[in-house]
Amino acid sequence: MGKRPLLVIALIVLILFVAWLRHPGQEKAVSRTALILGTLVEITAYGEDQDLLDAAVTGAFAEMQRLEKQLSSYLPDSEISRLNLSPDPIELSGETRALISRGEEIARLSDGAFEMGLGGVKALWQIESEQPHIPTDAELQPAVSGLGPGDIVIQGSLIGRRSPEVLVDLGGIAKGYAADRALEVLKEAGVTSATINAGGDIAMLGSHNGKPWRIGIQHPRHQDQILLTLEVTDQAVVTSGDYERFFERDGVRYHHIFDPASGRPARLCQSVTILAGDAESADALATAVFVMGPETGLALIEGLPDVEGLIVTADGQLLKSAGLPWRD
Ligand code: FAD
Ligand code: MG
Repeated sequence: MGKRPLLVIALIVLILFVAWLRHPGQEKAVSRTALILGTLVEITAYGEDQDLLDAAVTGAFAEMQRLEKQLSSYLPDSEISRLNLSPDPIELSGETRALISRGEEIARLSDGAFEMGLGGVKALWQIESEQPHIPTDAELQPAVSGLGPGDIVIQGSLIGRRSPEVLVDLGGIAKGYAADRALEVLKEAGVTSATINAGGDIAMLGSHNGKPWRIGIQHPRHQDQILLTLEVTDQAVVTSGDYERFFERDGVRYHHIFDPASGRPARLCQSVTILAGDAESADALATAVFVMGPETGLALIEGLPDVEGLIVTADGQLLKSAGLPWRD
């Protein structure tokens, strides 16, 4: 064979290779939404095999539904509702016990700002209902007096409450855990690139076309404005804010993140965004830092490895942790 045909073949191979590099297979995306955990959940998976993506997304939603049944305080048959109805410690699944134990760790880290026994306080305010109520100090006192270290009693495989007024509510952590679990289901099904957005708790698997995911963080007072963009790979970004679930009365905003010391909405931040390796930690830390406020909250973030944060203070200042991967 002469040199020319070889050159032609080499050229064709090169052209095909460049074409493949630009379009490696046909990337598809399967994206679906569903109302779970009282919020809109969107799961998007990327890959080449449509059937695999479809089945994986179906499995991920099923996992979140399973966890809602188990962990919701809105459902009378859930493990949490059984715990809240029982005067004595009861046996819960190892999964629920482990989640509560990890929540207790965040409670310790945050000096009690994160508090899973706030169900009684939440019930008094009814922030999420059509008719919210501003409780008096006398109404709040019994609901907050029993809170603090040891209010949720873990004895071997049993979990109980120190007093009947302590009502367990996992609203500050379970959404993140459910997102982590759903991502795990996608991974086990063979998905390598995906996002789960559970009402502002965003968990990400891998990267997107080899590039980081770009997550715009909303301005807490101007819904159409983006504060900044985070560039994230294989991590979770969770925001707790006073602008999603709130009501206003006489010009005062009342929202759903409570200071366990007073039983009233925490007043030191407008929003807190946490970037962490998993959505559960990010979820719980966002709630905790929101209550702690900018100063001690930022110190907590800076003291934790692989955790970054963005805080919008009550007067609208923007505080970023040192390693936050942001751009305009
Ligand atoms: P976050 O800051 O992450 O959490 C705020 C929530 O955490 C509060 O709503 C309260 O539940 C709890 N909390 C408040 N203060 C503290 C504190 N200091 N420490 C720890 N926790 C605190 N909503 C519905 O309207 N209907 C439902 O049926 C429903 N089912 C749910 C089932 C599950 C399993 C979960 C996890 C949530 C459900 N929700 C439901 C939503 C829930 O009520 C909260 O609104 C939601 O979890 C708040 O998430 P967030 O990201 O807005 O705020
Ligand atoms: Mg939270």
